[in-house]
Amino acid sequence: MRSLTVIQNEVQSCTKCNLHTTRTNTVFARGNPQATICIVGEAPGEDEDLQGFPFVGRSGKLLDRLLQEAGLNVEQDIYVCNVIKCRPPGNRRPSIDEVNACIGYLYEQTDIINPKVIVALGNTAVSNLIPTDLGITKIRGKFFKIGKQLIMPTYHPSYLLRNGSDDSEPRKQFREDIAAALDKIKEPT
Ligand code: URA
Ligand code: SF4
Repeated sequence: MRSLTVIQNEVQSCTKCNLHTTRTNTVFARGNPQATICIVGEAPGEDEDLQGFPFVGRSGKLLDRLLQEAGLNVEQDIYVCNVIKCRPPGNRRPSIDEVNACIGYLYEQTDIINPKVIVALGNTAVSNLIPTDLGITKIRGKFFKIGKQLIMPTYHPSYLLRNGSDDSEPRKQFREDIAAALDKIKEPT
């Protein structure tokens, strides 16, 4: 198994897909590599590309707030990363070729972190971590055991931003899904 530092160094100079030509920074991870919850999003947006860290823009602020309200310390208790490490121009969905080029890095990260629960945010993360054609609204809130990983699919925070107020149904469900992940990490193993 390679170390996170070795993988991160490779990502920093990676040219395996065309996204390397338009990136400002690669975006590898933030948080604690010893955390028992790993949060996986889609790809960096503009703020992430500029700063080099995942979920530091508007949807990241909402994500952090909802996680903090659930009782998590966002520096200690989680490790945050994405399926794709370089920003797709204009925040378009990454292509299948880009996902195929990049996802090996995510698999290596989750193997090393070996969290008790992976929270998969939105369809790109969910469809690449859980072999299913069902959309997020159908499968959210249920744990999936894939290999040795336990995965909780839920909404992407940018969807929560687009869909209403703080007491909207999707936000309520998101809070339930995070609470279920928290219960799971507290169970004795
Ligand atoms: N959206 C994502 O999926 N990931 C980020 O890092 C930021 C926004
Ligand atoms: Fe490499 Fe992934 Fe960046 Fe493509 S998106 S250049 S595969 S690190």
